[in-house]
Order: sequence, then C-alpha cells, then structure tokens
Amino acid sequence: MADLEMEKLLLQAIEDLSHLHKFTDEEMGVLEKADKAADALVEPEYEHYLKREVNKEAPKIARKYGLFKIPIKREYGGFGVSPLVGVLAKERLSQTGLGFGSFLSVHSYMCSAAVQNWGDDAQKERYLEPAVEGKFIFAFGLTEPEAGSDPQSMKTTYKKEGNRFIINGSKYLITNGGIAGCVIVFAKAKGSGEITAFLVDSKSDGFNVAMHLSEKVGLFTSDTAMLEFDGVEVPKENVLGGVGNGLHIAYATLVNGRMGVASSCVGIIDGALNAVASRAKERIQFGKPIGKHQLVQRHVAIIRQNLEMARWPTYFAAIRKEAYEKDMKNKDLIREMDMRSSLAKKIASGLAFDSADHAMQVFGGFGYSLLSPVGQLFCDSRVARIYEGTDEIQELKIAASVLGDDFRAFE
Ligand SMILES: Cc1cc2nc3c(=O)[nH]c(=O)nc-3n(C[C@H](O)[C@H](O)[C@H](O)COP(=O)(O)OP(=O)(O)OC[C@H]3O[C@@H](n4cnc5c(N)ncnc54)[C@H](O)[C@@H]3O)c2cc1C
Repeated sequence: MADLEMEKLLLQAIEDLSHLHKFTDEEMGVLEKADKAADALVEPEYEHYLKREVNKEAPKIARKYGLFKIPIKREYGGFGVSPLVGVLAKERLSQTGLGFGSFLSVHSYMCSAAVQNWGDDAQKERYLEPAVEGKFIFAFGLTEPEAGSDPQSMKTTYKKEGNRFIINGSKYLITNGGIAGCVIVFAKAKGSGEITAFLVDSKSDGFNVAMHLSEKVGLFTSDTAMLEFDGVEVPKENVLGGVGNGLHIAYATLVNGRMGVASSCVGIIDGALNAVASRAKERIQFGKPIGKHQLVQRHVAIIRQNLEMARWPTYFAAIRKEAYEKDMKNKDLIREMDMRSSLAKKIASGLAFDSADHAMQVFGGFGYSLLSPVGQLFCDSRVARIYEGTDEIQELKIAASVLGDDFRAFE
C-alpha cells in the first residue's frame, strides 16, 4: 500500500477498508483514475465556480478517466467494480465541492444504473452503452414545482395513443436538465393515476428547457434546470421497467442517489480537513501558527471526528449494497438498503455542512470568500441536506425502520 501515489485521505480509507474488503487490482486501478481525475478537476471547477457557471469540461474529464463506467457492469462496458469503490471514487472527486459529484451521480450512479437495472436489451443498447461512453448525458426528472417530497402528487401526465405515449407537464430543479440528451421522466397516467418512467430524448418536439436555475446558493458548476413537456411523444419502446412501475423505479434509484450524496459529503469533509490542516500551520497570529492556539485545534479535532462519523455508515452501506445488487428483489435487502442509504445520507450531509462551517471559522475572514478553498465547501454542502430527499424525509424513514410500518409517516 505504501508505494501507491494517491491523495492521503483516500489512501487512509483504502488502508482502513482493506480489513473488510479485498480490493482487486482492477478496483485499485479505478481508484487511481478517480484520484487523477480529481486533480484534473481542481482548476476548471474553481474557475467555473468563480464565474458562477456550469463546468463544461466535466463530461470531457469524466470520459478521459472512464468515470462513467464506475457503477456499471462489465457486460455493458463498465468497470464492474464493487459499490465500495464507487463510494471511494465519489468521495475523492468531491473534495473541492459537490458540483462534479452531482453531475456524475445523476448521470451514472442513478440514471445509467436505472437503465442497467430496469431496461430491456434494446434500451441497454440504445441508451446504456452510449451513456457509459459519455456520448450523451442523462438527467433524472422526478421533482415538480408542486411535488417535491411527495412525488405521488405529481401533475405531469401521460396518455397512451396507439404505439406512443404523450407527456405533458414540467419538472423542476433537474440536475443536468439543460445539458441532457435523455431524461428519465416520471409521469402519471391520466385516469388511473399509475406512475410510469419514460426515457425521453431531449430533441423530441415539445421538450423545452424552460429555465437554467443559476441563482443558487452554491453548486454553480452543476447544471440545474426546469423542463417543460408540451405534448412530447414517446414511443412505447421507451417505457422503462414497465407501465405503472415508475414509483418503484424512482425510489430504488434514489437509494443510489442517497449513497452518492453521502459519498460526496464524506469528500467535502476530507476537503475541509485538508484545508484546515494547511491553514492552521501557515497562518500566523499572536506570533505563532493559529494551529498552536488550542481553540483552533478544537475545530480541527471536530472535523476529524466528523470524518470518522460520516465515513463508516457510508462505507458500511456500500459494503451491504453488494449483496443487494446481486438480489434486488429480496425484500429484506431492499428494506435494509433503503434504511442504510437514508442513515448514511442524513449523517454525512449534516456533518459535511458542520465541517465546512468549522473550516470557515479556521480560515477567518478569508474563509468567507469564494476565493478560499472552504467558501465553496460551505455553499455547496448545504444542498446535501435537501436534495435526494430532505433531512426530515430521511428522519421519517429512519424512525419507521425502528418503530415499524404502522408508524410510517412517509410513503
Ligand atoms: C440543486 C438541486 C438539484 C436537484 N436535482 C434534482 C434532480 O436531478 N431530479 C429531481 O427530480 N429533483 C432534484 N432536486 C429536487 C429535490 O430532490 C427536492 O428539492 C427535494 O426532494 C425536496 O422537495 P421540495 O424542494 O419540493 O421541498 P418540499 O417537499 O416542499 O419540502 C419543504 C419542507 O417541508 C418538509 N416536509 C415535506 N413533507 C414533510 C413531511 N411529510 N414531514 C416532515 N417534513 C416535511 C421538507 O423536509 C422541507 O423541509 C434538486 C434540488 C436541488 C436544490
């Protein structure tokens, strides 16, 4: 392990985890690629962040290092590595912010994986294999202006006409929405109310990017858009996972989404820890490095504790996900993954925001600037407590896992 050249915290995680998981040579190769990609991303992410614009180089960098292949099986052109490697790669790629992680997570960990899990052979050939090569970008369209935590109240509708389905409605806050070649759109049947998932090409007539949401608090390098569907025609071949199965597909895909957010949040904590470790030694006040003032050491210690507390529920959920991915119809494993991904996401997102806050304090006034390495971590980390299900929704799910189904306050 000692002769590997990788970022220190990634190496430390691999070393700790090697007691629980035997990393294959191929998995180590994937982590080396993620490590190099993370280095290559630092400059473009920073430059685009300061300009408050989407990082247009993200797809190119992801393609160069094969990042779109991470959560995908070998038979579809992926790397076929364990979920734990996916988590570690995403942790490493999020040390400077959540923008790239959001882009990658939605495209690969959520949408490509959804087509892998639910798509038929023709859909895999037409969508999954090109997506793995990065020939187009995916988006995931569930949320609407009036349906967020409660997707069942969605207003986007479909009706069947011969061999096609006609979709009308809108989707809001859609990551990659403005750059996507294909969006997995969830819509409700007029009449029966059953929810179905569709693979919708963005070049379809009636598909409009109504708005790029650029006035966000952070996450500037990731595209967030509002989409409108005005009589969009979708061939019946583009129904994903069968008519009426949409909600099941959405919830299963959100398990991957929550794992992705948890991993990125661990990366944010890594980033905060790296930043304060340097700053505490370099910044001199009262004639000595601020790291020699014990109250500053407290901030460093808190971030280090946060890292430990965020890593293990996330890593353990990833280890358990391996069993789930081999038997995705097993009800016990479905329940377990649903709960573990909620726990990991809830814990890691709160600790990421807390860590960015402590890091900002160590940086003082400079920390309050986006020019410092911690300003971006602070602005980006806040959204992790909202997207892929809010803190409150995760808490309801966690409580129900303890109290039982009679106490489920969320469906
Ligand atoms: C930057 C960004 C990117 C996003 N990307 C995507 C994407 O790619 N695809 C997509 O489909 N969506 C995406 N979203 C949407 C995101 O998933 C939703 O914002 C989130 O699910 C919350 O929904 P909402 O914003 O409508 O809040 P609401 O549902 O209106 O919730 C408002 C508040 O009420 C609370 N609340 C609601 N119901 C309950 C309840 N039963 N009990 C207790 N509290 C409750 C919530 O926890 C929250 O605090 C994104 C959001 C953001 C900010």
